[in-house]
Amino acid sequence: MKVVYPGSFDPLTYGHLDLIKRASKIFDEVVVAVGNNLQKAPLFSLTKRVKLVKEAIKNLGNVSLAQFDGLIIDYVKNKNIKTVIRGLRAISDFEYEFQMALTNRKLDADVETIFMMPDESYSYLSSKLIKEIANLGGDVSQFVPPFVEKELRKATSCKP
Ligand code: ADP
Repeated sequence: MKVVYPGSFDPLTYGHLDLIKRASKIFDEVVVAVGNNLQKAPLFSLTKRVKLVKEAIKNLGNVSLAQFDGLIIDYVKNKNIKTVIRGLRAISDFEYEFQMALTNRKLDADVETIFMMPDESYSYLSSKLIKEIANLGGDVSQFVPPFVEKELRKATSCKP
């Protein structure tokens, strides 16, 4: 089965990567789809976010990369994929993810959302928190791969 794992990945963290690896062990093919969600005003450009995901998945044979604009449901319909993977961390993710999964089901009843949980050591990790830590000059090396850390340092050091 082919699945899509969509997200902003602004930037990719070890939490995302944990989920990607878990999914790659269960499903035949995993497409990591980086969204161009302008509402979220990302720190990194779409090109940079894609580049970082590409680096992270380069040794995973059945994982590929895609970009999408607009609704994930339109993207999966176009590609004839029926399953979306999302991550569930703490209770805080639940309401939003629940709403989104059911709304997507209303938009297309054939598309199913599957939730996966990361290793508990990543269950508190979010891109948002990591950006805040990096912004304040903190060490993010245990949360993101070295190539992401490098970009975070560059992006936050230009700030006053
Ligand atoms: P989005 O903007 O679509 O929420 P994110 O990049 O923040 O994009 O997250 C993409 C997906 O990955 C979401 O389902 C989110 O819950 C999940 N996710 C993010 N961080 C983690 C983590 N540390 N562990 C497990 N899942 C995560």
